[in-house]
Amino acid sequence: MRRVAVSVLTAASLALGAAAGGWAWTAERRGDEAALRDAAESRVAAVALAVDADRSAAAAGTALLGTAGAAAVQAGPRAALDAAVAQAHGTLGSSAERVDDEAVREALAGVLGTAEGEADGASAVRLRALAADVAVAERAVAEAVAAREAAQAAARAQAAAARPRTPAPGAPAPAAAPAADRSCVTTYSGPAFWTSVPTEGGDGSNGRLPPSALSAVSWTRDSQGTPFYLRQDATAALERLNAAFRAALGHDLALDLTYRDYDTQVEMRAALGAVAAVPGTSSHGTGLAIDVPELPCAYGWDSAARAWLVANGPSYGWVSPTWARQGGSNPEYWHYEYRG
Ligand SMILES: [Zn+2]
Repeated sequence: MRRVAVSVLTAASLALGAAAGGWAWTAERRGDEAALRDAAESRVAAVALAVDADRSAAAAGTALLGTAGAAAVQAGPRAALDAAVAQAHGTLGSSAERVDDEAVREALAGVLGTAEGEADGASAVRLRALAADVAVAERAVAEAVAAREAAQAAARAQAAAARPRTPAPGAPAPAAAPAADRSCVTTYSGPAFWTSVPTEGGDGSNGRLPPSALSAVSWTRDSQGTPFYLRQDATAALERLNAAFRAALGHDLALDLTYRDYDTQVEMRAALGAVAAVPGTSSHGTGLAIDVPELPCAYGWDSAARAWLVANGPSYGWVSPTWARQGGSNPEYWHYEYRG
């Protein structure tokens, strides 16, 4: 898991974001919002009509239909909102760590919270407005996932095209290596966050690891100068891994996130709702997980670094979990875990 320690996110900004329909949307996005909302309201209205039709057909001949009255008027928009909420929860769950800008997911979580909080007792007009809000935010997330997948596919294609071919025997030596791939920049543009420090007086549980349980890797720190902490045995194994990695690839293993403390997990849960790991269950909270940089051409699926890590990491106890692999339940080429 990564991109979830949104430590700079506050409840206030989340509330603002929910009210504004996504505070981090770009100006261009805001410009499109009216059109998106119109389209979403049309879709929601269509769903409501369909739901009404289904319900009417199913209920025909029953006594309930005859006494529906105002409740029947409410049932359509409420059912439409429930359907939109259910679909949005699915999108929110399946998009975890699959968007460049977490703000769109945070906005959706906020809108969902509002919708679920207000649904009971809301007027038909308000129910439709809430459903439209959910649909707009859900679409933004779906679009963000599609955009990132397209960018990653393009990066893979470019990396494959740039990969030098093995020269035929007797062929002249290839020219100097091509210049650094300009596509090798992170695709992440979400909120800034950093790795956590040990918890003074921590009880040793997930996210509450005391200084005595953790040690920092020796060769790198995060952009704020904070050491990267892991459980001591995991650090020792990663030191050995890095020595071999450096010998094979000519540079140290880069890190982006390691230990994540409980408070940061709580902030994430507050910001993202049920889609975030329950505080106290993150694999980063045990000091046994690392994220390498989200740089597709440096550490991506087709990179030499990933090939080396997948092939050799297990010798040092570090693995790419099945769920994080291509075809896994939540592909994350940057996430590795220490299994001893
Ligand atoms: Zn991770």
